[in-house]
Amino acid sequence: MTALELVSQLTEAIYVVIFLIVAWAALRRRTRTSLDIALFFGAIASFIVESRVVTTFGLQQIEFISDVVTILVIAMPYLLLRLVDDFSTVPLIANRLAEAGLLFSAIAFLASVGQPPTPIVLVIVVYFAALATYCAVKFIRAARRSSGVTRRRLDAIAAGTLLLGLTILIAGLMPLVPAAAGALDGLVQVLALGSAIAYVVGFAPPPILRRAWQEPELRAFLRRAASLPRLPDTPSIIRALQDGAGSTLGARATIGLYDRETNKLRFHDPHGVLPNEIGPSDYLVWRAFETQRPRYYADAARAHPALASSYREQGVRSLLIAPISAGDERLGALEAYTDHEPVFSQDDLDLVRLLADQAAVILESRSLIDEAARVRAHEEAARLKEDFISAAAHDLKTPLTTLVAQAQFLERRAVTEPSAPADLTGIRRIVLEARRLSALVVELLDASRLEQGKLVGEREPVDLVELARDVARRDGYQGRRITLSAEAPVVGSYDPRRIGQVLENLVENAVKYSPEDSEVRVAITERDGQALIDVTDQGIGIPASDLPQIFERFHRAANVDDRRFAGMGLGLFICKGIVEQHGGRIWVESRMGAGSTFHVVLPLGGVA
Ligand code: ADP
Repeated sequence: MTALELVSQLTEAIYVVIFLIVAWAALRRRTRTSLDIALFFGAIASFIVESRVVTTFGLQQIEFISDVVTILVIAMPYLLLRLVDDFSTVPLIANRLAEAGLLFSAIAFLASVGQPPTPIVLVIVVYFAALATYCAVKFIRAARRSSGVTRRRLDAIAAGTLLLGLTILIAGLMPLVPAAAGALDGLVQVLALGSAIAYVVGFAPPPILRRAWQEPELRAFLRRAASLPRLPDTPSIIRALQDGAGSTLGARATIGLYDRETNKLRFHDPHGVLPNEIGPSDYLVWRAFETQRPRYYADAARAHPALASSYREQGVRSLLIAPISAGDERLGALEAYTDHEPVFSQDDLDLVRLLADQAAVILESRSLIDEAARVRAHEEAARLKEDFISAAAHDLKTPLTTLVAQAQFLERRAVTEPSAPADLTGIRRIVLEARRLSALVVELLDASRLEQGKLVGEREPVDLVELARDVARRDGYQGRRITLSAEAPVVGSYDPRRIGQVLENLVENAVKYSPEDSEVRVAITERDGQALIDVTDQGIGIPASDLPQIFERFHRAANVDDRRFAGMGLGLFICKGIVEQHGGRIWVESRMGAGSTFHVVLPLGGVA
């Protein structure tokens, strides 16, 4: 046997084996696609078997059988086009042209005795080659649109189709160049073998090859999986999982999360074709979820005729479904679907199950992270409450102690020396401490109102310069003089009471934290449609390490001694809230021992 004969026999054997495989698959699952594939390879195999039997046993060709074989062979291009239609969509015009070609070749062969005339054979050969090229291009395009195994399979089928087209073209042209017949025959055999191998790979890929193709996408998916639970929210995780599962399976994937309260699967289909939620029903996905068993449906419409039109509308032809569960807990279901049938196979069930398990791990980790965050938030709230109570109690206690002691002293005096003149200094101290107490309670109330977003009230046109002048004139700054610098009125739309409170607080702090003889300056300017307020002192300053937290509630800087400077650390927190609720910003520049400047920027708020 020559090498060429070996190649030719190998090619024939491969084509016959492919036919047996696809015919067996078509018998098991009688769908249009499996029948198309079986017919296509049946045509090739019958031609091979017939000519083998005739040449091996030296038999006379039986006319009926040879006619059937001829018809099958000339139907091949048409069958090829049907296959393209199974994987992608073929325009009507291409279908009509292929049918016309089929009719023409059938008539040409059946009408002539023996071989049709050479020009007609040539036309048929060119028609076959052109159609094969068209089909190959369609397969390549479909491959570019898919990923994973589907992409590789379509690439292989495209290569097989192209090689088959070339084989037919060269074999058909061979009689025209008898001199090169020997060399061309070799080429034809090699091309035919190539196309046979490519078809095996495309139509009946061995499981090991499928796995090898899936591996890179799966690996990429698993690599990303570790970081998925840290995405900002569950919908982002679901989207990432759907994308990953989709590209691994070479299909569209969607995840339905189980909502125990409503007993429904909630979907977030990025393609917007599937229903948003599916409750107990006949939907295949619900069946798989309820029975907790992964399922593969080559043709969803056939598997569930009652829902056929709905599946068709949604472009769901082939389906892979796996439940997502962690232990006994049902979390949802992963569904992969395509609008063409031959994309999945039974073998993909293992893969979809693996992806669903991975999704379960990711969703479980996410819910653990959420739970931990909830516990932390709860602890934080409890801690804040404790801080609040202890800070408030501590700060209220000092004035209260003085108040009670002073009142008791006056009471004793009134009893022991009823005729003595009233102790005015003692009474003033009581009034002062009661005022301080009341100011502290107001601060606490403001802080809590601020949290509820209820601090800032009605806005009205306010001249900040006027307001600052008013604030500067108030007493209570230990008799210190406040310098105000402003060139012109700066009018904006504000809650005058609250902005006044900000000014007063900043001035009070400037006075409180600076030496008696130093200057406190307030400057009001307008720039680029914004009001700027600067409150400057030459006081103790704020340590750099405290600056980032200085506007947080209860924060007092390290250089402030509770006994020397009374305060709760709520004033700046409230100022920041008021300024921000007016759409402004507050910040501070400070140097230890040199002084601080608090800056406030407020939008004018549309008031000229
Ligand atoms: P309180 O003055 O009641 O402590 P605030 O919220 O008004 O609360 O201020 C928080 C902290 O910021 C103060 O405890 C102090 O450490 C620091 N601080 C505020 N204003 C000044 C200032 N003008 N100079 C120095 N430190 C200041």
